[in-house]
Amino acid sequence: MTFSVRGLAVAQGIAIGRAVLIASSRIDVAHYFIEASDVEAEIARMGAGRDAVIDELGRLQHSVSQMSRKEAPHELAAMLDVHLMLLQDEMLSDGVNHWITDRLYNAEWALTTQLELISRQFDDMEDAYLRERKADLEQVVERILRHMQGVVSPIVDSAKRTKRESKQRNGQQDLLLDDTIDVPLILVAHDLSPADMMQFKQSVFAGFVTDVGGKTSHTAIVARSMNIPAVVGARAASTLMRQDDWVIIDGDAGVVIVDPSPIILAEYGFKQRQGELERGRLARLRNTPAVTMDGEKIELLANIEQPDDAVAALKAGAVGVGLFRSEFLFMSRDGKGLSRLPNEEEQFQAYKRAVDGMQGLPVTIRTVDIGADKPLDRQDRLEKAQDTQLNPALGLRAIRWSLVDPGMFLTQLRAILRASSFGQIKLLIPMLCAVGEIRQTLALIQQAKTELDAQGVAYGDVKIGAMIEIPAAALMLPTFLKYFDFLSIGTNDLIQYTLAIDRADEAVAHMYDPLHPAVLHLIANTIRQSRLQGKDVSVCGEMAGDVGLTRLLLGMGLRCFSMHPAQILTVKQQILRTDTSKLQDWVQQVLTSENPAEFV
Ligand code: PEP
Ligand code: MG
Repeated sequence: MTFSVRGLAVAQGIAIGRAVLIASSRIDVAHYFIEASDVEAEIARMGAGRDAVIDELGRLQHSVSQMSRKEAPHELAAMLDVHLMLLQDEMLSDGVNHWITDRLYNAEWALTTQLELISRQFDDMEDAYLRERKADLEQVVERILRHMQGVVSPIVDSAKRTKRESKQRNGQQDLLLDDTIDVPLILVAHDLSPADMMQFKQSVFAGFVTDVGGKTSHTAIVARSMNIPAVVGARAASTLMRQDDWVIIDGDAGVVIVDPSPIILAEYGFKQRQGELERGRLARLRNTPAVTMDGEKIELLANIEQPDDAVAALKAGAVGVGLFRSEFLFMSRDGKGLSRLPNEEEQFQAYKRAVDGMQGLPVTIRTVDIGADKPLDRQDRLEKAQDTQLNPALGLRAIRWSLVDPGMFLTQLRAILRASSFGQIKLLIPMLCAVGEIRQTLALIQQAKTELDAQGVAYGDVKIGAMIEIPAAALMLPTFLKYFDFLSIGTNDLIQYTLAIDRADEAVAHMYDPLHPAVLHLIANTIRQSRLQGKDVSVCGEMAGDVGLTRLLLGMGLRCFSMHPAQILTVKQQILRTDTSKLQDWVQQVLTSENPAEFV
């Protein structure tokens, strides 16, 4: 039966495919397609993991049987029995074999998919005792996954080729092939961290749906950067949908349609093709300079998360990178045999790759902005989630996190400075809000330079900028203008902190308002004062890529926008159609209104 779920539209476009429900396992699981010739090896790998757990539990069972009643309560032996029974249940292994053989899922993906399926059946059981066995099943699966994690798949490298690449190679375009392997897949999850999203970035999914998340949560931002339709904050979507359901994501309207009728499918198929045609038309603007009708030159820069995103930035016609969110180099390193934080050489190589990728165009690298909805790793996330006392958005985040660990910060600064002798680099500092922090930061930058000088290591002339993303910063602009070469307005956080609305919380998403008079006042004032002082100012929050706000920002005097590559051409089109000399009266009306949305 067809039904629809509403959420927040975070990445535009239409996606049609089958739902893949990702169980919220506490273990990071890779999702990739394997080659048909590797099916047997993958089944064997899963079998080896399961056998290892059977062995382990068998040994445990034996030692428990040797213990007295006091040492090992009866419940422990009973629990081990249940776990062994679940492990040997054919429903688990047959299901996993099915996902591997018929869908070519890698073993971990197959295992979590089957876990999800069986869990649903447990949920539907009348008997409370049986319902509670779901937790046992989860533990058993987690044990298998842990065993498999220690064993590197011999076929991972060859199999990591994405399904999309293979489709491109085969020239397959049709979305609704009834052949299970070639159907586009829609990822449905309760929650995904930005790090999870990065993992999926190179992967196979044609769209995303999550139950939680706000429009400018980092998860949504990464989804947008992937340029595939996504809806977040869809509340109960992951519990209402079933594995393999047909799903349409309307990323423009923020709607998810489950089990659509043929008429609805045809309608959305048409809309999808229209979107593709429109994107084709926009692509012709790639090399057109972004100049308004009255001759104002506008800089359109790209926001990137990884060095390799430079390719997409250039393809979209960006004239540089306005925001490289360097924290993504620091995230999700646990369980991958990597040191907890990237060392200087590793970071240097990454920054240099971004610079090389931009082929001489400037790259603005923001120092690490870990914290709030961007935890360092899974462990960090779990600890934060358990500690209900903390309010991470107001805690040790971004520059605060860097300043409590000067050694780590200096490592990053040296790496960025070293990369600056290979191209134009600007350094951007997030979340500053007090002069003490500013001075401490600048002193550490100086120290990093002195250390490189002592080693005889070269670096370029690096301009230093600050993000204006806390109201306090926007209200003490003269201080920021005194210390920094340029400013970049982080509207995502500026809105969050001005309105006291957690940007990642869908429960208050309706109050997250870029057009709130207080927000507009802070933005307009930052642009005006910076220009008066002759200092460069940009907007690098999501407002910069919102085409509905382009004219307003131009009218406020903004001449530099930084956004995800996917948004650049649409914004450029709007710029080409705008005459800034005619905007003044309207902008004044908007800025003095108690409800600016009425005029925009
Ligand atoms: C912002 O806050 O607007 C910004 C660009 O930084 P981030 O989204 O990474 O917090
Ligand atoms: Mg920010």
